[in-house]
Amino acid sequence: MFSSLALPARCQAPAQRGHQYLLNGQPISQERYQALQMLNQSIPLLQANQNQAAIDLLLQAEQMAPQIAEIHNNLGLAMAKLGKNTEALQELETAKQLKPELAATWLTLGGLYQSQGQVNEAVSTYSEFLTRFPGHKDAGKISSLVAGLKKELANGTIPRQTKQEVNKENYLGELVGHLTRWPEAKLPIKVYITPGTGVAGYQPQYNQVLEESLATWQQAAKNKISFKRVDKAADADLVCSWTSDSSSFTNRAEAGETTVFTNSQGIVKGTIKVLTVAQVAELPLTSNRLRQICLHEIGHALGFGGHTRDPQDMMFFSTRVTDVERGLSPRDITSIRLLYNSNRAGTISTDANLP
Ligand SMILES: [Zn+2]
Repeated sequence: MFSSLALPARCQAPAQRGHQYLLNGQPISQERYQALQMLNQSIPLLQANQNQAAIDLLLQAEQMAPQIAEIHNNLGLAMAKLGKNTEALQELETAKQLKPELAATWLTLGGLYQSQGQVNEAVSTYSEFLTRFPGHKDAGKISSLVAGLKKELANGTIPRQTKQEVNKENYLGELVGHLTRWPEAKLPIKVYITPGTGVAGYQPQYNQVLEESLATWQQAAKNKISFKRVDKAADADLVCSWTSDSSSFTNRAEAGETTVFTNSQGIVKGTIKVLTVAQVAELPLTSNRLRQICLHEIGHALGFGGHTRDPQDMMFFSTRVTDVERGLSPRDITSIRLLYNSNRAGTISTDANLP
């Protein structure tokens, strides 16, 4: 699953000397001074996912100094994190017009498009970012991301079809050619979770999020799939592990990576690796985001070998800028039930009528 990227903007800390307000040694108005201070105060709020508090503060700042692009950027980011995509887009466009040389806006705008499934817009915005800011610290990640999105479009793991062709009930039709499953004889799936102790960014509650994510899929499948913990990796068919190093992934713009090994009966083994650190250091990994990554990667490990273009689905190709608690979509639930509905090996029903 590709990480969507977004970046808060900050400014030089303004200074106060007597009755004078200064920015980079130049006198500024008291209103501008206060607005810039609020801008910088919005960053820890965005990092802590306190998005409404950030919006309240930034709206005040915007009133005092409507021409500061960074304020519009952070407002757009906070709104995007709350899922207010239309308002977010407006703020980011304003920021872009006021200050096209502000890198954060291009990156956040690309992330917002990606988050909404607008792959072409995302690719062109990220490409524009790379042209304008080739030396940016996130440029390497962005170019991996652009390459990855293009590759998935080319090989069909992000489907190309238009909205009207989408089945509202399930996405097995969209994933044709990229579906497999665990055979009955392999159930319950023997799972080993490699301890994350010592992995940078790992927190003990991550294990619980992963365990809950396994349970969520099991429940969605009405126990047609189930998991059994084993104490050694050697005894497991599905090995989960944590890593802080995205360069160990096939594409370093991914937030997790799953590999499944199949034979004529279906899946025989799988591995899931989950990234314990944020792709963008300025926005830490929240438990909402981690749960999203775990659920998505487990979906791959259960046999969904491709992605959807519907941002509601857990098997959507990207993480979202929106940072809210998110469960499986109705299409995820119907699709996993259908995938495991039939016991006949090798035959996967795409019939939407479920008992
Ligand atoms: Zn994926």
